[in-house]
Amino acid sequence: MSSPHRLLIVGGGLTGSTTAYLLRKMFAKDILAITVWEKSRGAGGRMNTYRSEINSLATVDLGAQYISVSSADYAQSHERFYQELLTAKVLAPFKGIIEGEREAKTKSGFSNFVAPSGINAVVKYFLNLSESNVSYSTHCSTVNCCEKRGQAGQMVWQVIDQHDNITEFDSVIVTIPVPQLLQLQGSIQAFLQNESKSLQNVEYSSRFAVGYFFDHEAVINVPWTCKYATGNPNIAFVSVDSRKRCGTDPVDVGPSLLVHSTKSFCLQHWDTDKSIIKTMLMSHVKEIIPDLPVPIGSRCIRWRYSQVVRGVDGAPGCCVLSASPLLIACGDAFTHSNFDGSLKSAETVAKAFRLS
Ligand SMILES: Cc1cc2nc3c(=O)[nH]c(=O)nc-3n(C[C@H](O)[C@H](O)[C@H](O)COP(=O)(O)OP(=O)(O)OC[C@H]3O[C@@H](n4cnc5c(N)ncnc54)[C@H](O)[C@@H]3O)c2cc1C
Repeated sequence: MSSPHRLLIVGGGLTGSTTAYLLRKMFAKDILAITVWEKSRGAGGRMNTYRSEINSLATVDLGAQYISVSSADYAQSHERFYQELLTAKVLAPFKGIIEGEREAKTKSGFSNFVAPSGINAVVKYFLNLSESNVSYSTHCSTVNCCEKRGQAGQMVWQVIDQHDNITEFDSVIVTIPVPQLLQLQGSIQAFLQNESKSLQNVEYSSRFAVGYFFDHEAVINVPWTCKYATGNPNIAFVSVDSRKRCGTDPVDVGPSLLVHSTKSFCLQHWDTDKSIIKTMLMSHVKEIIPDLPVPIGSRCIRWRYSQVVRGVDGAPGCCVLSASPLLIACGDAFTHSNFDGSLKSAETVAKAFRLS
C-alpha cells in the first residue's frame, strides 16, 4: 500500500483549522496525512480565549468577539457551517445589547453569534474533526524545496522548526499573517518573489487587548453587553465578556471584561510595558464605567497583526506559490478579516488543492 500524501499546514488559527477540516472531508487519513504546526501553546490564533490563572472557569475572548453573518452571500453559502456550529453548541445566538454599533450593522439581516465557552472553541472544533496531527509550540522558520530523500527527481518541501528539526512534506499550506510569511527563510523566498509586490502592500491594524477578571461577588453595572466607544481616543470597544458569551452574568464565577484599545493608542504606546498598559486602559475604562470593581487578575495582548486594513489585490482567497510540489499561501489577508473571510480562504484552498 502506498503511503499517504504528507501535508503541512502552518498556523492553527481559523484558516488553518477550517482548511484541515475541509480537506479531511475530501480525503481519508490513508490518502492524506495532515500535520498542523502552531507556534503558540494552543489553537485559536486571533480567535483567542484566555483562561484565568486564578480561576480556570473564568475566561475572556481577547481577539475576535463575535461572528457576524455579514452579507446575504455568506449567509447563504456558509449557512451549513453556522448550522453545524449551532447544533454542536459551539456557537449560540448573541442575546445582549450592543451600544454604538455602526448603523449598517444594526440594520435587519445581520445576526451575531457568540461562542459560550470561548471563541477559540470554533477553531478547536474544526481542528478536532480534521483528525490532524497538531504540534503546538512549533514555529516554522524555514521552507526549502528539495529532492525527496532516496528518490531523485521528485521534489518535496523540507520544513525546519525553531529547534532546527527538519521534516519532509509533499505539500505545504501557510496560513500565517502575510508579514510573517514574508519573513520565512529558505527557498520559499524565491516563490514569494513573484507575488512580492502584492504581498508587501498588505497592511494590518494593531491594537492592545486587555482582559480583566473580577471576584465572584463583583457586579459590572452597565445596561449594555458590548459598547463601541465611538470618539474615545483610547478605547475602541468594551465588552462584559462573560455576559456576552452566556447571555447572563455568571453565578459562581466572577465576571470578565474585555477592552480593545484604539489603533492610535496602540501606535502611541507600542513599546510600553504591558503591566503599564493594563493600568492605563483600566483608568480609561473607569471614565466609561465609574463604579467598576477592582479586578483580581488581568491579561494583556499586543496584537501586532489585528485586522487586515489592506488585503492582497483582488482578494483571491489564496495564492498558489508553487504548483508542484504544492505550496499555497492563504489567510484573512487573501479575503477579509472575519469568520467568513477565513472560511472563504479555506474553501479556495480546498478547491486549489491537488494530491501530486
Ligand atoms: C482584536 C481582534 C478583534 C477581532 N474581532 C473579530 C470579530 O469580532 N469577528 C470576526 O469574525 N473576526 C474578528 N477578528 C478577525 C479574526 O480573528 C481573524 O480574521 C481570523 O481569526 C484570522 O484567522 P487566520 O487563521 O487567518 O489567522 P490567525 O488567527 O492569525 O492564525 C495564524 C496562526 O499562525 C500561527 N503562526 C504564525 N507564525 C507561525 C509560524 N512561523 N509557525 C507556526 N505557526 C505560526 C499564529 O500563532 C496563529 O495561531 C478580530 C481579530 C482581532 C485581532
